[in-house]
Amino acid sequence: MDDLLIRGGHVIDGTGAPGREADVSVLDGRVVAVEPRSARPARRVIDARGQGVAPGLIDIHTHSDFTLPLNPRAESKIRQGVTLEVVGNCGFSVAPVLPGRAQMQREYLASSAPWLEFPESTFADYVAAFPATSVNVILQVGHNTLRLMTTGLENRPVTVAELRAMERMLEEALAAGAWGLSSGLFTAPGNFADAAEIHALARVLRRHGAAYSTHMRDESDQVFEAVREAIAVAEATGVHVQIAHLKLSGVNNWGGAAKLLAEIEAARQRGLPVDCDAYPYDTATNPLRNLLPRWVMEGGIPAMLERLRVRDVRSRIRDEIARGGLTNFGRIPSWDVVRVAISPRMPENAGRTLGDIARSRGVDPIDAVGDYVLADRGETRILITSMTDADVHEITRAPWVTVGSDGNALAVTGVTGQGKPHPRYYGTHAHVLGPCVRDLRLLTLETAVAKMTGLAARALGLRDRGVLGPGAWADVVVFDPARIADRSTYEEPHRYAAGVSTVLVNGQVTIDGGDHTGALPGRVIRRAA
Ligand SMILES: [Zn+2]
Repeated sequence: MDDLLIRGGHVIDGTGAPGREADVSVLDGRVVAVEPRSARPARRVIDARGQGVAPGLIDIHTHSDFTLPLNPRAESKIRQGVTLEVVGNCGFSVAPVLPGRAQMQREYLASSAPWLEFPESTFADYVAAFPATSVNVILQVGHNTLRLMTTGLENRPVTVAELRAMERMLEEALAAGAWGLSSGLFTAPGNFADAAEIHALARVLRRHGAAYSTHMRDESDQVFEAVREAIAVAEATGVHVQIAHLKLSGVNNWGGAAKLLAEIEAARQRGLPVDCDAYPYDTATNPLRNLLPRWVMEGGIPAMLERLRVRDVRSRIRDEIARGGLTNFGRIPSWDVVRVAISPRMPENAGRTLGDIARSRGVDPIDAVGDYVLADRGETRILITSMTDADVHEITRAPWVTVGSDGNALAVTGVTGQGKPHPRYYGTHAHVLGPCVRDLRLLTLETAVAKMTGLAARALGLRDRGVLGPGAWADVVVFDPARIADRSTYEEPHRYAAGVSTVLVNGQVTIDGGDHTGALPGRVIRRAA
């Protein structure tokens, strides 16, 4: 007898094929049959008439390694039907932390993971201590973390010995189960690395059959050069390259999405193993300090704070931003598009714009930003509306671009329910499956599902997830195609998505009748040796 039978649903199998009426049978954590009007007996039958039944959704780019230890039920994700999160992105990973470097790591990641501890640990220690969670997890090790452990925040090339040390830490992480390496070349210390350093590490990945993902060096005025740099890694080393959260930031670059996509598609057509992902929002989130010129952070957080007290430094920042726009985000219409998301020492400012803060204090915006970074020791996170809808839609509709929230698994209660984080943490996948399909008509439901299941699994090199068929792990979502939607907004981000009734993770019912069962059936998925 099977464990479960999901009866009468409209099965959208993750391949992009048209949906069809079928029953899905589950036994011992796996899908054992997908067939019309099944006669297989099962201990429990879930009525899915009128509902869509799809493979569990893959969130291919997240930072939930910062919150799953605090929110192992992964509420904001699992309630959208997400059953697998890829973490350790943008060059940031919680491990390894070498002896004597824990404080540096804590300061460095405070604006991303303000509530997390960073004990000294090897990657193997980290994997062993990773909590039981509701979602499956793929871990990556971060290049910024490896460089932080080697050269700190020094602006210089690594020495041969330091590169060997980074290669050794990378190999240890891969041996301990890391899926691959992520880079964050947009910020210190990743931005101090040249192509040769990345290629050397990519060759290690290639030897181990592991993958590379990148938050590129630039997403605004140099985004085309940055895409070429990412593609060159695949070309030079043969390693799979995942370009993270593809976007065009800054008014100078608005309208360039079709051309940017064409550049990546051309590489794919040349046979290069390159994929990319995106989230469907015109607003990004980042530490406030990352809007400043890159040299401001050289030498570390204490050095940055020291520097920001100097009047001449402020003028230099003002001139550089006036000339070239913000680091990472380019030119913005005004400081009213930048608003405080989470500010550990000044939580009352969540939701306020930097333009408003500057006006109410009667100071210049650059001074408002400098003072703010000082007052919160660089830990404040902001939201910045630096993209245009037309580009976001163009990227969202591309059938070969996968979906990554770039967000954390949060919960409306508890420690992760604070501040005003980006609504994408709660809504990315539901927004694509609902509003983008139904209201904006950017893509079909089958294509939307495929982008977040089958295609994502292929980009990751996962064989037994992402498609609903016999033999696959029973990660399954049952949802109402007419009702699925994100409910989180910039003003009220802490709201769960609507329209998901049942979620199975490794065959276990984790969302049942729209409620979390408390089950923690997720596992760390390790790269096959
Ligand atoms: Zn990123």
